[in-house]
Amino acid sequence: MERYDIAIIGTGPAGLSAAVTGTIRNKKVLLLGSKNGSLKVEKAHTIENYLGLPSIPGSELQNAFQAHLDKLGISITEDRINAIYAMGDYFALQAADTMYEATTVILATGVIPGKLLPGEEALVGRGVSYCATCDAPLYRGKTAAVLGYSPREEAEAEFLSEVADKVYYFPVYTGEVDLPDRVEVIREKPKAISQADGKTIVETEQGSHPVDGVFVLRESISPGQLVPGLETDGSHVVVNRQMATNIPGCFACGDIAGLPYQYIKAAGEGNVAVLSAVSYIDQKKRAANN
Ligand SMILES: Cc1cc2nc3c(=O)[nH]c(=O)nc-3n(C[C@H](O)[C@H](O)[C@H](O)COP(=O)(O)OP(=O)(O)OC[C@H]3O[C@@H](n4cnc5c(N)ncnc54)[C@H](O)[C@@H]3O)c2cc1C
Repeated sequence: MERYDIAIIGTGPAGLSAAVTGTIRNKKVLLLGSKNGSLKVEKAHTIENYLGLPSIPGSELQNAFQAHLDKLGISITEDRINAIYAMGDYFALQAADTMYEATTVILATGVIPGKLLPGEEALVGRGVSYCATCDAPLYRGKTAAVLGYSPREEAEAEFLSEVADKVYYFPVYTGEVDLPDRVEVIREKPKAISQADGKTIVETEQGSHPVDGVFVLRESISPGQLVPGLETDGSHVVVNRQMATNIPGCFACGDIAGLPYQYIKAAGEGNVAVLSAVSYIDQKKRAANN
């Protein structure tokens, strides 16, 4: 399997900045995430505090980021990473139906807006899943609920509905939902997930919806679930000034690494994280040659 020097998870300002400098430093970079970048950039009305680009609409900043990637020939591999395992000498990254390998990993996945639902964490793997593409076969002929936190999750619900007997979709956002009729859209805000009588239950203000499995699909999953053994502090990853985490070779930057949540701070930290990854790789190479 192809082994990358640096795998970067997330295509917001932190991940893109890391990819730019990592490429300039001649490392073999794998940039994973949405080809459209971060919704937090794309949807921003006007950004007043990005150095050198005053009063820029988010969509224009996104275009400027894309132009920078294009200039350096950097491509985005559109995949969502569901788990990252430290294997000693390298990391194994698990996507829906692909595995990737890299010597170092940079987490630039942003933060989950809001908290986990009560009951959610305890039921992961026992009725709660974060990946429709990975776990859909388990729900063949069964019922499933999808809690979609952005319109991007509609495609996952549609795919699931091709396998499951019945899919209920709870959009946790405003605006239109574009799904086939076989998916039942329920406009009720989920407030908890529980289990009873062999069913997993989506609880809302209005009632209870028992199904065989619940898919919670957010833009990002909590860092502790993404990387087993990672030291976290609430929704953030604990890092030092080199943006290094407690796992050697694993770095984090941007919102996931803590407050304040700012574009330029995220981009700056992406730069620090990738330079730290470059030093880590170079040190390992030197040690191997001695
Ligand atoms: C409404 C709003 C307005 C804002 N206005 C400003 C402002 O004016 N000025 C300012 O400085 N800041 C502003 N911010 C804050 C700014 O948006 C964030 O600080 C910044 O986007 C953080 O960048 P990031 O790269 O760390 O994460 P994000 O921008 O959140 O990007 C993370 C990316 O990683 C992807 N991802 C997550 N998990 C995975 C996974 N498992 N696999 C693959 N990809 C994954 C996500 O889909 C996302 O695209 C605003 C935020 C909001 C919500």
